[in-house]
Amino acid sequence: MEIICNIAEMSAWSSAQAAAGKSIAFVPTMGCFHAGHLSLMRQACQLADYLVVSLFVNPLQFGPKEDLETYPRDFDRDAAMASEAGVNVLFAPTAADIYPAGFQSQVNVEVLSQRLCGASRPGHFSGVTTIVAKLFHLVRPQVAVFGRKDFQQLCVISRMVQDLNFGIKIIAHPIVREPDGLAMSSRNCYLSEDERHSALCLYKAIKHARQMVRQGARDTKTVLAAVHGLILTYPSVRIDYISIVDRFALNEQIVIDQDSVLLLAIRLGRTRLIDNDVLLEGDGI
Ligand code: AMP
Repeated sequence: MEIICNIAEMSAWSSAQAAAGKSIAFVPTMGCFHAGHLSLMRQACQLADYLVVSLFVNPLQFGPKEDLETYPRDFDRDAAMASEAGVNVLFAPTAADIYPAGFQSQVNVEVLSQRLCGASRPGHFSGVTTIVAKLFHLVRPQVAVFGRKDFQQLCVISRMVQDLNFGIKIIAHPIVREPDGLAMSSRNCYLSEDERHSALCLYKAIKHARQMVRQGARDTKTVLAAVHGLILTYPSVRIDYISIVDRFALNEQIVIDQDSVLLLAIRLGRTRLIDNDVLLEGDGI
C-alpha cells in the first residue's frame, strides 16, 4: 500500500491511472477504523482496478463546540488495517494542504443540508460536501462507497454528484453493527459503560418500529410516539431528533410506505450518536 500525504502527489497518481486506462474506487473516511470502515473498503476493492481511501479529519465539518480536537486518531493502526484490507493508496493530506490561506469556496446542497442533523449541526453538511468535492477532484474515482450509517450524508452527496455532474457512481453500504446491535462508530469509544448500555436504545427503537410496521402500523405519529417512549426508558439519553422521512427528499411523512426511513439522533453525555433504518423493506435490521 502506498501512503500519499500531499495533494499534488495524489493528483499525479490519479492522472497516471487515468492515462493507463485504470479505474479507481474511493472510500473517504476520518480514520479510527473499525469493522464498518473495513467492510466498505472490502466492497470497494471489488469495484475498480485500484482502491483509494482518504483519511482526513475535516475541520470544516465540525462546529466550534464539537469534538474536532478530541476525535480519535491513530495513523499507524489505521495504515496497518487499510493495508490488510487491500487498499492500494491511503491518502492522508494535511489540513494546511487542503485549506491553504485564502481558502473561501464551499459547496452547498441547499435543502437537504438544512434538516435533521443539519439543523442541530449548522454548517456540518457544507463542510462534508466541500471536502468530498475536493477529494473527488483529487482522486478522480469512477465509483465511491459511503455507509448507510450516515444516511443523510449519503443523500446529500448523491444530490451533489447529480446536481454538479461529477459522473461518479455512489454506492450505499449497509450499516455494520456490533454483536448486540449498536451501529459501529469511531465515536463509540467516548461512551462510558453506562452510556454504552443506553446507546442500545437506538437499535432497540429501530427494531420496535419495524415490528410495529410489520404488524400493520402505518401512522407516523403512532410509531414515533412509541419510539420516543422506548428511548426515554434508557437512562441519560437526550433525544436530538426522531423522524420518519422519505428516503430521497428526506421530507417528513404522515403515512409510512416503502420509502420510509426512521432516522434517530441522541446525545449521551458528550457523545452524539445516530442510527437509521428503512421501515418496510426486508433488507433492514
Ligand atoms: P467516518 O470515518 O465516520 O467519516 O466514516 C467513513 C465512512 O464509513 C462513511 O461513509 C460512513 O458512513 C461509513 N461508516 C461509518 N460507520 C459505519 C458503519 N457502522 N456501517 C457502515 N458504514 C459506516
